[in-house]
Amino acid sequence: MGRIIAITNQKGGVGKTTTAINLSACLAEAGQRVLTVDFDPQGNATSGLGLEKGNIDNTVYELLMGECQVGDCIMPSVQERLDVMPSDVDLSGAEIELLDMKDKENILKENLNLVKDNYDFIIIDCPPSLSLLTINALTAANTALIPIQCEYYALEGLNQVLKTVNLVQKKLNPELEVEGVVFTMYDSRTNLSLEVVENVKEHLNENIYKTIIPRNVRLAEAPSYGMPINMYDSRSTGAENYRLLAAEVISRGEEV
Ligand code: ADP
Ligand code: MG
Repeated sequence: MGRIIAITNQKGGVGKTTTAINLSACLAEAGQRVLTVDFDPQGNATSGLGLEKGNIDNTVYELLMGECQVGDCIMPSVQERLDVMPSDVDLSGAEIELLDMKDKENILKENLNLVKDNYDFIIIDCPPSLSLLTINALTAANTALIPIQCEYYALEGLNQVLKTVNLVQKKLNPELEVEGVVFTMYDSRTNLSLEVVENVKEHLNENIYKTIIPRNVRLAEAPSYGMPINMYDSRSTGAENYRLLAAEVISRGEEV
């Protein structure tokens, strides 16, 4: 039965989508059956995994609106064993339309329940806000994986995500746990990156992944070719590190 992991942080630009795309692809490369749910109206995980935005009949928006069945909005990606539930800009309207719906926090969960036996992992790429979409993602998830960028204020941002996770845990999803925190865009040439990592390690009780994702230009280039990093440049440091992260995620699941 699939483990559902929400990649979340209310801050934009911290590496959520990059992590969702490449962790998903590296899990699939390692033999796992994976579904990536693109839950951001920007649709960057959709295009980054090789699907053409604007050319898709059924997205996660139609699913939330009850206009299609869950099976209708799951499509194969460029990576073997990896499916995508795509999104596009329509999803930005869902926020308001959901407000009137019954059980509005549970819609994604109920739909993923119908397919989770088909996968080992379901990875949800959350939008950069504490919206009803993020609440749906955290309600559906078993765990939250939090990417944080190595910069000043990293700890403040992190405390806010942890509060959100806590709140959803209390009100909507008592089983929700923190999967772990992963440092992204680490720059080994600066002391700042190192200081941030040390500071967060000192103050945090949650699991912190040993793998640290470096700043790597290949990771920024890959999405414009519609490929995850393991396909775009299999031997780049970005690919190597996302493979290591995938291995950690798999082995953590085996411990539980
Ligand atoms: P988020 O989804 O949290 O908004 P993204 O994953 O979209 O963040 O990343 C923000 C920007 O930083 C994107 O342009 C992305 O290509 C780039 N980026 C993310 N991670 C890395 C990295 N490790 N090295 C280089 N660029 C990165
Ligand atoms: Mg994103």
